[in-house]
Amino acid sequence: MEKSKGMLIVVSGFSGVGKGTVVQLVFESMPNLQFSISCTTRKPRAGEENGVEYFFLSEEEFEKKIAAGEFVEYTKTFTNYYGTLKSEIDKPLDRGVDVLLELNVVGAKNIKKLYPDSVTVFITPPSIGALKARLIGRGSETPESLSRRLKEIENESKDICHYDYVVTNNVARTCADEIVNIIRSERLKTSRQNLKNLFVQED
Ligand code: 5GP
Repeated sequence: MEKSKGMLIVVSGFSGVGKGTVVQLVFESMPNLQFSISCTTRKPRAGEENGVEYFFLSEEEFEKKIAAGEFVEYTKTFTNYYGTLKSEIDKPLDRGVDVLLELNVVGAKNIKKLYPDSVTVFITPPSIGALKARLIGRGSETPESLSRRLKEIENESKDICHYDYVVTNNVARTCADEIVNIIRSERLKTSRQNLKNLFVQED
């Protein structure tokens, strides 16, 4: 059977919901899945490496890429640019490789418009109190950035209903398993499989 095209899986969630850990666990369960490394102008957090979590760019470098049409989508949140490079998704998709993108709600909406077959998943926290405590505990937020993040959470919550799936991150492993199950089920959809030659008899 001819290989079908890869699938896009977009994962979003409020800042501080533990997306990073969940996504990492998804990758451990699905080694063939590819992560789309976004570009950003925000500074790396402790432990983050250029070319792993993000490509960390200056504002000038980012704007050059915008002008060159290198992004499939990009957004500016308060002070920082975030964008998905065309090269990060088109090549693997053509090779039949599934790609996971971690995007905010604006990015998820734009990707869904451009790739209607993409699968969108929103990760929610068990409670808003738990989320606030986590954000403060992370220690990387100034009072201003914390209040910005909380405002962002309020805005993003209005868009959850547009996602294909919603999962709760109570226990990261369980949440990751739910996402793995979603990806596996989506892969089995008849529309995603190349069934043309399935019943052609071989001599
Ligand atoms: P953080 O600064 O916490 O890594 O990310 C902030 C937000 O930007 C998160 O909601 C994250 O999912 C989103 N984000 C990361 N990369 C991209 C991207 O390429 N495009 C868009 N639209 N959002 C992104």
